[in-house]
Amino acid sequence: MKSTKEGSKFTINHSNFPLYNELPNLKIQLDKTLKICEQRLKLIDFYDQLSLQQTTNSNVKNQNILKNKTEDTNLIDLYSEENLSNDNLSFFLIACLFCKTELERLWLANIETKIYEERLQKFNVDTINLLSIMKIPIQFEKLMTSDTKYKLINFRSNILTNEIKEVEVIKIPFEYVLNLVPSMEFHIQKGFVYITRAEAISIICNNFKEECIKKYTNINKSLERINSDIRISNLLKDLEKEREENKIRNLKKDTLKNIDGKVTLEDIEYHAQNNYPLCMYVIHKNLTNDSHLKHNGRLQYSLFLKGLGLSLNDSLKFWQNKFSAKTSLDKFNKDYAYNLRHTYGLEGKRSDYPPYSCSKILALPLPNMQESHGCPFKTFSDDKLKSLLYELRLKELDVSKIMEKKKEPPIACIKFFEARFPDTPFEKVGVHPNYYFESAYKGLKKKKNKSSIVIEDN
Ligand code: SF4
Repeated sequence: MKSTKEGSKFTINHSNFPLYNELPNLKIQLDKTLKICEQRLKLIDFYDQLSLQQTTNSNVKNQNILKNKTEDTNLIDLYSEENLSNDNLSFFLIACLFCKTELERLWLANIETKIYEERLQKFNVDTINLLSIMKIPIQFEKLMTSDTKYKLINFRSNILTNEIKEVEVIKIPFEYVLNLVPSMEFHIQKGFVYITRAEAISIICNNFKEECIKKYTNINKSLERINSDIRISNLLKDLEKEREENKIRNLKKDTLKNIDGKVTLEDIEYHAQNNYPLCMYVIHKNLTNDSHLKHNGRLQYSLFLKGLGLSLNDSLKFWQNKFSAKTSLDKFNKDYAYNLRHTYGLEGKRSDYPPYSCSKILALPLPNMQESHGCPFKTFSDDKLKSLLYELRLKELDVSKIMEKKKEPPIACIKFFEARFPDTPFEKVGVHPNYYFESAYKGLKKKKNKSSIVIEDN
């Protein structure tokens, strides 16, 4: 049993395992709070990556991700009472960042549940006692292994035994297994379902996820009040800023290095047709057709282009050229050039604004009829999305695979990538549009290299 760290007397078990029912009552300095929240964000990003890789058939298996599992992702561990309080506090504060939309709430709840499950297993927590603490009304019953009810449990658990003996099984109200694998067969009697101890962990995690979503919804309702405390609102702003800045740092470190900084004005049309994620493809297409783009779309697209390494001068030329059919040079310079210089940090606060991540794009307000921003997997109707996918000449099977995942935009985005770049390894697709581009660009380079191999005759 590994519930204590060597040399430490603190033990984590079912009675003190985190349930996040209330904020801890503790005095803590703001800079320390910021640090523990940053650690939790790293943990969340790590598990987000892991689950994205696990959901796909990518050749880039989990090893790549696990290889990057650094000390940081282990930081919020439960080896002391202080860590337990920090864990509780950061759970609530991070929820303030991702509670505004249903999609964000579901996304965060899924990740927190994965972390929870790993901890349950790591600390070998007594799940039956935890079920009672979670106020899930369970009962016990003694059954003979020859009983049909037990045989059904056996069948699910794949435990084959011919030995006839008495065993104790758990009975749980039917409603708690509703979200478990739908194809599983359960024995139901008087509203109770028979499960094994091993299956209790899925029930706990399922219940935990539902509770997380309820908590995030309540936090969202109280967000105005929470933000009225200037210390907390500043802390949340710092966290968001730091997260976005980390992303741009990584982009600069990885993406721009990998694409050799070779995205120029001349390449844009080609890349838009071939290597853009769907969100940027849609914006580029609407910009080309309408010779105009509303504010949110301009910001989303210009930051993406900046992330690809397009210089400010090229960016100004690109936008001026696209707008030229409807906007004079004077008007362009007066109304739009300032904002572009601003995104490059040369006007106003001179901040180096990072390209939007998928979570940021998904949290943007829904576009109206004249707007093009956002993630099409979220903002488009089924029919509109389908016809766009066919317009891009995707095969019927690929279109169905994407449509099946429409409610989970990052996964749909991965399916879209896989359809356009079969057998191409990818990383962080569905996390950031610029990473989508990087993976597409690398796939393109590989194809070009392959096609340039010359086979010499003997
Ligand atoms: Fe763009 Fe991200 Fe949506 Fe993909 S998931 S289309 S990259 S916003």
